[in-house]
Order: sequence, then C-alpha cells, then structure tokens
Amino acid sequence: MAKVNALDGPALVAVADNVSLRAIPAYRLLAARIDERHSILLKDTLTMEMATGGADDILTVLLRAATRIGALICDGIGDAILVRCEPGAGAALRLSYNILQGSGARIFKTDYVACPSCGRTLFNLQSTTQKIREATGHLKGVRIAVMGCIVNGPGEMADADFGYVGGAPNKINLYVGKTAVKFNIPEAEAVDRLIDLINEHGKWVDPPEKLAMVED
Ligand code: SF4
Repeated sequence: MAKVNALDGPALVAVADNVSLRAIPAYRLLAARIDERHSILLKDTLTMEMATGGADDILTVLLRAATRIGALICDGIGDAILVRCEPGAGAALRLSYNILQGSGARIFKTDYVACPSCGRTLFNLQSTTQKIREATGHLKGVRIAVMGCIVNGPGEMADADFGYVGGAPNKINLYVGKTAVKFNIPEAEAVDRLIDLINEHGKWVDPPEKLAMVED
C-alpha cells in the first residue's frame, strides 16, 4: 500500500486474492489506508469460489456477491465492481447491475420498495406489487413504494417518488414523495390512478411495445 500511495498519479486498486482476511474487513482496511485519489475495485471473492451450476450454488454466489459488494458500496467504499464467481458472462453482468441498483449506486430500471406485509396489510401485497411492476417496469429510474397500511407505510417508503399505500380495506391512498395526494381510491382502479399520477408528474413514458404499435 505504501508503494501505491507513493505513485504520482491515481491508480485502480483491489485487495489481492488469497489474503488471510475476509473480503469486507479487507476492503475496509484498504479504504482506510489508501489515498483518496486512488479508485477501489470491489471483488465478490478473494479466492475464486466459482459456481458449479447447481441452483443452491448459484444462490450462494448471488448472495455472497450481493452482501459483500453491496455492503461495501453502502459504506461508501468502491468505485468499480467485479463479479467473478458467476461463470456465465450475461448472468454476471445482470448480477452486477442488480447489486448497483440494490445499493443505490446506479439506478438503471424502475426501483420498488415494498413492505414485508403483516396483520395490518390492507390488500394482497404480492399480487398488487406484481400488477404495479407489470404496469411500470419500463420506467427507468422511477422509485415506487408499495406499502400495506398507512400506520407505518409512509414512514418506511425511503425516498420513493410515488407511494401506493393501503388507507382502509379495499381503499388506497397515493403519495408523491411522503405527501398523500389522493385518498380512498377503490383498489380496483388504484393502479390506473397511480399511472395517472406518474403521468401528471412527467415521469411516465409509454412502454416500448405500445410505442411500436403507434408507429405501425
Ligand atoms: S407498512 Fe403496515 S402493513 Fe406493511 S409491514 Fe409495516 S405495519 Fe405491516
């Protein structure tokens, strides 16, 4: 590290493979000791534990990459990432983008925040979230929160642009940021009203297939 810090210009640095430290503390140590002018490349593994293809193994690779790289990005560490354990190039690229999106470093698709649901949930959270995803999944960079109730939902919507929140049984309140703007919308029409709201705020674009049909 002393040699790198003595360099004239900036460099891209990473923790060496096979060091006798776990990845997260190793990178924290690197970030604490390396000059700020250098950029840090985060690696998902320091030992090349390559996935062999089984479903469990792929899940392990995914979780390991997400927890290590994601945790470090959330700590403010890292300028580039490298996923090495996933053998498929396309899957590694998708995983890399999803880690960047999940940790808030780079938003490249619609972002959703949903509560885990509980006894207070006022609608079917899973099917409604799926319906909202189908309607809005093409809105790159828009953050949408789906919350089961108004008791805790609005406080847990993070920095969502729009919120779909259960206000009463079968009634939905819609939010712009943390402000409720539409109240007691019948659940059957609430997704359409959410789209109207996104449109009113200039964040709606037609999905690609609809644009193609208009051009035809
Ligand atoms: S937002 Fe409401 S419904 Fe969702 S988990 Fe929290 S308390 Fe339960």
